[in-house]
Amino acid sequence: MAVKIQSVRGMKDLLPGEIELWQQVEQEIRDVSALYGYREIRLPLLERTELFKRSIGEATDIVEKEMYTFFDNNDESMTLRPEATASCVRAGVEHSLFHNARARLWYMGPMFRYERPQKGRYRQFHQYGIEAFGWSGPDIDAEIIDVGHTLWKRLKIDRFAKLEINSLGTPDSRASYRQQLVSYFEAHHGELDEDSKRRLKTNPLRILDSKNTEMQEVVQSAPVLMDYLSDESRDHFDRLLGHLRDLGIDYEVNNRLVRGLDYYSGTVFEWVTDQLGAQNAICAGGRYDGLVELLGGREVPGAGFAMGLERLVEVVRLGDFQPESAAADVYLCMLGDEAQKMGHSIAQTLRESNVATILHCGGGKLARQLRNADRLNTAIAIIVGQSEWEAGNAVIKNLRADELQKVVRVSEIVVTVKQMLEARN
Ligand code: ATP
Ligand code: MG
Repeated sequence: MAVKIQSVRGMKDLLPGEIELWQQVEQEIRDVSALYGYREIRLPLLERTELFKRSIGEATDIVEKEMYTFFDNNDESMTLRPEATASCVRAGVEHSLFHNARARLWYMGPMFRYERPQKGRYRQFHQYGIEAFGWSGPDIDAEIIDVGHTLWKRLKIDRFAKLEINSLGTPDSRASYRQQLVSYFEAHHGELDEDSKRRLKTNPLRILDSKNTEMQEVVQSAPVLMDYLSDESRDHFDRLLGHLRDLGIDYEVNNRLVRGLDYYSGTVFEWVTDQLGAQNAICAGGRYDGLVELLGGREVPGAGFAMGLERLVEVVRLGDFQPESAAADVYLCMLGDEAQKMGHSIAQTLRESNVATILHCGGGKLARQLRNADRLNTAIAIIVGQSEWEAGNAVIKNLRADELQKVVRVSEIVVTVKQMLEARN
């Protein structure tokens, strides 16, 4: 036997059996996006490396160590997208989507990050995200948070999701805060771990995000960004909190929430859960008012979020969301050559009436055919043998209820099957 080829580390196959829940979660996502007037945008998986360097920032975990970057045959540096906000902005600028217009957009698909694989952390994972371009007020921030909240309710996991929120203020106020923070951490240099010492030079705000338990004390006593906000930022944030209260969305202000991407400014938030262990963030987002300009467009404010679907589906699995059965409705058993020929046309007629039908292939005894029907969890078996074929009949058997099988004319199959399926619902 030849040597087996394994999948790539951190990249998962999603198999029949688990994919059904994904599909239903994805459907809720599409429905909720449409309910709020967001429209889908599909973006390439591959972009120029420069796009992510410039937007996410050189001194971030993603750009420093998590990107799948390579040179293509033309010696251009390409990167598999680690997130899609940058691509969304690139596409919007390229196709003038924001030119004198506002846009509510959503996307869904795989992202790639070279991280250490563990529960809730993969190298290929999936995100659903929404982005709203053209609004600068707190009303759109509230709407974006509300989209997530509505999704939790529809997926019956709202009791598992907690909102943490903060404001990063304007680039100016952040710069003066950054100075204060650096002086503070320099004064406590001995208490910092190696990672934080490095970040002190590159991205000091990220030190606040440290998960190192030994550093919690020094981080707790650090100056708080909220105290450095301009009146305008402070007012924006207060009005946002007011909207959230109006919407009935509980929140917790977390002054240490800074997010790992440079393009954020103003509002930032995370939806976290206590159901997943260490990888506890299911959705994260905020405002990125300077990003469109940074990527060559005009000044257009923006805000959005990205949601990790692996983590979301995992939480949904723990909740009360009832996935619909993915089984086909009918399994069609045939005995004999003539019956076999008739099978194709019966199956066709059923499918034209939207009845999901599995045609038995490969012949064999009736008992084996029925065993397949059972294994696949189908509701109904239709059996056509030699004598049924001669008489123009078929046998219909309810596999989910204790009732007698019936013999019907071939022309009556669809009506009978539909009645049986309806009776079941
Ligand atoms: P984390 O702190 O968990 O690394 P992050 O800040 O890097 O998250 P974002 O870039 O904001 O995450 O991405 C938004 C969401 O995408 C996260 O909240 C998470 O649900 C999901 N996500 C991010 N990285 C991964 C990954 N490697 N595997 C699975 N899901 C991920
Ligand atoms: Mg990360």
